[in-house]
Amino acid sequence: MDQIYILNVVFDFGYGEDTIYPVILKDKDEMILVDCGYPDFLQKLEQAAYEKGVDFSALTKVIITHHDHDHMGSLAAIKRKYPHIQIIASEKDAPYISGELKSLRLEQAENMQSTLPFEQQESGRAFQEFLKAIENEEVDLTVKDGDYFPWCGGIEIVETPGHMPGHISVYSKKYKVLISGDSLALENGKLEIAAPQFTLDMNEAKKSVLKLLNYDIETIICYHGGEYKGDISEGLKNC
Ligand SMILES: [Zn+2]
Repeated sequence: MDQIYILNVVFDFGYGEDTIYPVILKDKDEMILVDCGYPDFLQKLEQAAYEKGVDFSALTKVIITHHDHDHMGSLAAIKRKYPHIQIIASEKDAPYISGELKSLRLEQAENMQSTLPFEQQESGRAFQEFLKAIENEEVDLTVKDGDYFPWCGGIEIVETPGHMPGHISVYSKKYKVLISGDSLALENGKLEIAAPQFTLDMNEAKKSVLKLLNYDIETIICYHGGEYKGDISEGLKNC
């Protein structure tokens, strides 16, 4: 996997150390980042790329798997500093990334607010304010299920709805790697449906995982949890 780099972006929001794993795909013409961290993470991303021997400023594209704050939080900052970068997302998710439509995560948080116990209401409101402050950004190219691009040995877009309706995963044909976004998470070495409380449609999410059985995958890279080392079809069937 010499042309696929899994970044280790380490942070601590006061609940202990955590890591997210954005991925960079690279060939002689293209350098593509999949997902880009929380707000104000640009420097962390640059640093994480540097640690893998990759020059972040050489990026040509950013693919956003879905419009959650931890996946698109630094997108506008990246585009400001590197305006040449092309931003790619699904047709369904693009209007949320651009701000044309209201964030589904914010909508969920607003709907849940009245159900929260009193002691959680303040943090519920703070979460809503945090989501409202996420900077939107225009998407340059929209994609859909099955779209294929010759970049970096060939990549295919796989629609994996559930966590969010417009969620996509990225499949690298050459390296037989699936970049899962939040269609899957890796917890204690096991593939799981990412954060059930943030999964907007659990049935869809489970269907999306089973759909991945149709792909010849040797490695799954989860945004939350990193590289899965176990048996792929067992891992998918058991989650
Ligand atoms: Zn998410």
